Amino acid sequence: MESLVDFAFDDSTQRLTEATREFIAEVILSVESDLVGDLHSISNAARLDLHHAAAVRGLLAPTAPLEWGGLGLDMRRQAPVLEEAGYSVVGPLAMNCAAPDEGNMHLLARVASAEQKERFLVPLVRGETRSCFAMTEPLPGAGSDPRALMTSAARVSGGWRINGRKWFITGAKTADFVICVARTKGSPGDAGGASMFLVPRDAPGMAITRNIETLDSAMLGGHSEVSFEDCFVPDDSVLGEVHEGFAAAQERLEPARLTHCMRWLGAARRARDIALGHSINREVFGSRLADLGMVQQMLADMEIEITASRTLVLRAAWELDVEGHAPQTTAITKVFVSEAVDRVIDRAVQICGAIGISNDLQLAQLYREVRPFRIYDGPSEAHRWVIAKRMVKSHRTLA
Ligand SMILES: Cc1cc2nc3c(=O)[nH]c(=O)nc-3n(C[C@H](O)[C@H](O)[C@H](O)COP(=O)(O)OP(=O)(O)OC[C@H]3O[C@@H](n4cnc5c(N)ncnc54)[C@H](O)[C@@H]3O)c2cc1C
Repeated sequence: MESLVDFAFDDSTQRLTEATREFIAEVILSVESDLVGDLHSISNAARLDLHHAAAVRGLLAPTAPLEWGGLGLDMRRQAPVLEEAGYSVVGPLAMNCAAPDEGNMHLLARVASAEQKERFLVPLVRGETRSCFAMTEPLPGAGSDPRALMTSAARVSGGWRINGRKWFITGAKTADFVICVARTKGSPGDAGGASMFLVPRDAPGMAITRNIETLDSAMLGGHSEVSFEDCFVPDDSVLGEVHEGFAAAQERLEPARLTHCMRWLGAARRARDIALGHSINREVFGSRLADLGMVQQMLADMEIEITASRTLVLRAAWELDVEGHAPQTTAITKVFVSEAVDRVIDRAVQICGAIGISNDLQLAQLYREVRPFRIYDGPSEAHRWVIAKRMVKSHRTLA
């Protein structure tokens, strides 16, 4: 990809970015401390209040297509808006552009039938419903390697019967429907043969068996284990093509890992701001922290990694907009940004000393929230493995 990359934002994107910054500063930061410790179980009424506050400012569902009720931003224009939203972990939830709904909206807009869009996508964009995406399974099932998929869906009269277990399913507890990936052909270990199903929360045979306690606490509904026991879904529940579920999941994963990067970049900026403020105010050994060389190095490294992350995100967003796919660049971006935001927040904690690991500042929360990002949407090692394999393959092609 050698073409020129244009990073200029049009006026409407700049206005939307500014409006998002104001929304976070004026509305979200003042309610954040009441909500932030317990976002896994925030009430539906509180969530709808947040959506309403975003909607009156014209900020609801920025990533969803215009024709389905969203603001219709392409990936490049999503980047600055989602970064601003991510300045507070409550921001994306309020604006209805948080995971997993945001990725599911993208998937539904791409592959759902017209009837499925009316039934599932429209209320999701409006914030009236919630969703989750169920791929990962307990050992020895699907994780980094989706081919290990064990959950099965068998053809029966009028539909499909799903059997299997999923875990770490974000938002399952609060979801009105589950997008379940199940094997419709072949055996665990086979590269293809998966299909996706839209399963309503009250489908007989589907149950949440456990809410898993995790390090993080800012994703609505938390993370759950879900079981399917002879769970029947009718024919019109198939999302996309039968047996093409892995390819369709890729449609979701590429942009979804990038929007995660955008939001967590906002969190890294927040950590930098807190640490910078602290370093200017705190004196030790007769000097401001901000004037001590080793602290300056940490401040500078934070800035370098935030700027590099933003540039990579924009580059990947541009490639996705122009090419439709950017597997290598989104993988590179995901690895770099997930590790960079971790380092940025870690340095911020260090600069702030003991208060950095207390709940008096937002840093401890951010520290807990970003760590899982190096695992979900593909662990760093799996991405590095694939990046290197593509490099080797393209070198062989050139040779
Ligand atoms: C907070 C959180 C939310 C999540 N939400 C969802 C969700 O909503 N829906 C869903 O379906 N799943 C979800 N997941 C699951 C997530 O997608 C998986 O954790 C991820 O795909 C990794 O799978 P695994 O945990 O089974 O790890 P494994 O596949 O067992 O991998 C374990 C480790 O092995 C190493 N590894 C993997 N591949 C390679 C390789 N090629 N080379 C070298 N080392 C490698 C990595 O270090 C990796 O961390 C979530 C996970 C977390 C932590």
